[in-house]
Amino acid sequence: MSARAQYRAFIDEHIVPVEDRLSREDDDAEALLRDLRARAKADGLWAPHLPPEVGGSGEGFLAYAGLNEEIGRVTWAQYVFNCQAPDAGNGEILHLFGTDEHKERWLKSLVDGEARSFFSMTEPDVSGADPTGLQTTAVLEGGDWVINGRKWFSSGAEGAAFGIVMAVTEPDAEPRRRMSQIIVPADAPGLAIEPVPILGHRGRGWTTHCEVTYADVRVPAENLLGDRGAGFLIAQKRLGPGRIHHVMRWLGQMQRAFELMCRRALEREAFGGPLAEKQTVQNWIADSAAEIQACRLLTLDAARKIDEGEDARVEISLIKFYAADVLSRVIDRAVQVHGALGLTDRSPLSHMYAQARGAHIYDGPDEVHRMVVSRRILQAFADGDGWSFS
Ligand SMILES: Cc1cc2nc3c(=O)[nH]c(=O)nc-3n(C[C@H](O)[C@H](O)[C@H](O)COP(=O)(O)OP(=O)(O)OC[C@H]3O[C@@H](n4cnc5c(N)ncnc54)[C@H](O)[C@@H]3O)c2cc1C
Repeated sequence: MSARAQYRAFIDEHIVPVEDRLSREDDDAEALLRDLRARAKADGLWAPHLPPEVGGSGEGFLAYAGLNEEIGRVTWAQYVFNCQAPDAGNGEILHLFGTDEHKERWLKSLVDGEARSFFSMTEPDVSGADPTGLQTTAVLEGGDWVINGRKWFSSGAEGAAFGIVMAVTEPDAEPRRRMSQIIVPADAPGLAIEPVPILGHRGRGWTTHCEVTYADVRVPAENLLGDRGAGFLIAQKRLGPGRIHHVMRWLGQMQRAFELMCRRALEREAFGGPLAEKQTVQNWIADSAAEIQACRLLTLDAARKIDEGEDARVEISLIKFYAADVLSRVIDRAVQVHGALGLTDRSPLSHMYAQARGAHIYDGPDEVHRMVVSRRILQAFADGDGWSFS
């Protein structure tokens, strides 16, 4: 059986049947998740984003990209397989930029599934879409970084063991060289974490989005990740491939919503026949099929180009806003076909619907990605080269 088929079988057999219990996010759900993680680890379905030499079961970027379509079908699956955001991205940058000591102290605990982490970049007081204006500072004082500032939307910070914070360390440098990334233990004195409910959902542990305040938080100078002033460069390394993984997981969500829509359309009768015979519903199914397949092919094209060493900046931005639109549209159509049921917690669609809204905002709002695409293409025309996707 291929790795992809193995993950699919595990999800269908062990996760889907208990999805409603997991969605309650109570003590029972936590115990269930612990059991599922132990079973997945024992089956070797574990940390597929990382290579075996650091404890993962990964087979490379392209294979992992494809796997995400399976893992994305059910929200909880990424946590069960220990490749949940933001730990997967943090694991990747610790692997790429961490010292041996960082890997031993921080990466190992992530890969083993003993600890979680958060990524602390966005701030409530300035634009996250234009992060050159971030205000949190870190100043070297007697062998320690002293960090001050206020972040929010640090996903998964509740109960995490450590975070990676973006802070201004080089205030006089040019805008994209002002920031560095620093590893901060969550129990450092002066650090406070408070979940911020979104769309009425507080979350628990891994699913929280937290405000994190840093008041004279001191960490050793060695906690710097990569070089001074390299914060943006590291963030780009993380975000490019990370966006492919996000979109592949969204494909899993789209595909599942599409399947639920088709089944419901065949089963549910109204006005003398199944919903499947109403032309509006048929149009939704045809349009969704075309849009999902377009997303899939665009994403695989971007993934292949990255795998071949291209930066694929236009392709990545293009799928980021296009796939977010398709994700919202397909889930919305599926909810509509389900009627009131689609809004209840008796259908996975309500949770999927709420989750999908953030896709237009995190890792860069739609408008910024549209700006990147059009600027690059127009620049190529201005340079006299024109633009082609080949
Ligand atoms: C579910 C979720 C999880 C997240 N997890 C994390 C995390 O773990 N760590 C972290 O650091 N951050 C995280 N974020 C934050 C996310 O990265 C930011 O919200 C995002 O970068 C946008 O920043 P902002 O919210 O400050 O919006 P702003 O920068 O204030 O932008 C607001 C709006 O302005 C518009 N806009 C901005 N620029 C342009 C432009 N050039 N042209 C046209 N319109 C424009 C867009 O419509 C945009 O939505 C998360 C966000 C969400 C929703």
